[in-house]
Amino acid sequence: MTEIPPAAIADLQALLGERVLTEPGALAAYGRDATPLFRHAPDVVVQPLTTEEVAGVMRIATRHRVPVTTRGAGTNLCAATVPLSGGIVLSTTRMTALTEVSRDEMLAVCQPGVTAGALNRAAAAVGLVYVPDPGSKEASTVGGNVATCAGGLRGLKYGVTRQYVLGLEAVLPDGEVIRTGGRLVKDVAGYDLTRLLVGSEGTLAVITEITMALVPNPAAARYGVAYFESMTDASEAVRDIVASGPAPATLEFMDAVCVAAVEDFAHLGLRLDAGALLLFGDDGEPDAVDRSVARMAEVCGKRATHIELAESVAAAEDLLAARRCNLPALARSGSMTILEDVTVPRPKLAEMVAFVAATAEKHGVRIGTFGHAGDGNLHPTAVVDGDDPAATAAAMAAFDEIFRHAVDLGGTITGEHGVGAAKLPYLEHRLGPEQMALLRRIKGAFDPLGLLNPGKLGS
Ligand SMILES: Cc1cc2nc3c(=O)[nH]c(=O)nc-3n(C[C@H](O)[C@H](O)[C@H](O)COP(=O)(O)OP(=O)(O)OC[C@H]3O[C@@H](n4cnc5c(N)ncnc54)[C@H](O)[C@@H]3O)c2cc1C
Repeated sequence: MTEIPPAAIADLQALLGERVLTEPGALAAYGRDATPLFRHAPDVVVQPLTTEEVAGVMRIATRHRVPVTTRGAGTNLCAATVPLSGGIVLSTTRMTALTEVSRDEMLAVCQPGVTAGALNRAAAAVGLVYVPDPGSKEASTVGGNVATCAGGLRGLKYGVTRQYVLGLEAVLPDGEVIRTGGRLVKDVAGYDLTRLLVGSEGTLAVITEITMALVPNPAAARYGVAYFESMTDASEAVRDIVASGPAPATLEFMDAVCVAAVEDFAHLGLRLDAGALLLFGDDGEPDAVDRSVARMAEVCGKRATHIELAESVAAAEDLLAARRCNLPALARSGSMTILEDVTVPRPKLAEMVAFVAATAEKHGVRIGTFGHAGDGNLHPTAVVDGDDPAATAAAMAAFDEIFRHAVDLGGTITGEHGVGAAKLPYLEHRLGPEQMALLRRIKGAFDPLGLLNPGKLGS
């Protein structure tokens, strides 16, 4: 824990005036994010507006040796923005300038505090799409999406944030400003620092501007839903769909626990007599989309108990809403939800799903599983009584086994939510000691004093 010198706060106030928060109520709100079980208030919160102000904050932090945790909307699910050592929380939520959306170059340039939803609406106005599509898009920031390499509902066909970041401006801990990449489609001059910063979770630099590639808005999109007796059947359908042709945009599944919770929450007319639901969909030219959706329905037909195609935009929106509202729906049935994020190679999906169910039963924990099935990405979510330490411990014991089993199957401890403080204890199991040591050396090259987001990646 760092004791922040009063002189550091005075310097910050001289730089930012009223955009320096020190009241305990405000600080408490920045001491937590969307992750349960982790909490630690900062000493001070700063709200810069410009790159120059961010550089000024970093110079002050370096001069006084005060840690800095950069925070977008705080929607991360791995305790990545909890300032474990106190110090400064640097909030980007006032850095909301959307400098440019270019139809000709198919890119946008923005400050990090622009929300994913706002960027998507600006892109849509000129017939383009911001591809990253996290369930949190109305709240989460583009800077946060970049710093966590966010995924979403169309990863199978379009990939994740990493593939779309063309260039970054970032402030190093000593206040130096760097520019990586740019507007070019091709550029192999030097190490790919842009990709290194993507997913770096605020541990290497503060991202102050993003140049993001956009894609054309597809002419059509169609969705359908298939119900199965079990998640194993749904997982096998996913494998067969992917093997049968070009990757579709969307393949998402939910188990019976999630279907029941979502139907109780949102009343969308989901069938409650099935063990699993698979939402499938594609986008592109209308004829191609119709063929793709028909192909997926046919493949599902070999195992599904029931299939429905959404025949209207409203019906499609209901299906997408069903998938997006899993977390709030599950959250209603317990005082605490622990949402996890493992990915396995697609052929191992059925095995992983079965392991999650068996592990939940073994530990007596209620776990609902949903996720981006096409990406092999599962979000097993425990619903527990947060006031019961034994229940929390049982959930953590179950997840411990789930993370290790995912790695043993050739998978990973996090597909898209990040490492943060929550997954750090498992990182070495995934990366091994040599890569862990290299990560620390990279961290040291950017941040020799260890001021950026201590207790997270690279610590
Ligand atoms: C309901 C819900 C649904 C979600 N669905 C998805 C999903 O489908 N896919 C998915 O991938 N995630 C999902 N998430 C997780 C989360 O929304 C994403 O990780 C998102 O990208 C975080 O953005 P944020 O602005 O909230 O970042 P924060 O939570 O504020 O920060 C996340 C990390 O990024 C760093 N950071 C933020 N801004 C900067 C910056 N400018 N420079 C350097 N570092 C920075 C922080 O230090 C921290 O390490 C979901 C979360 C919720 C609550």
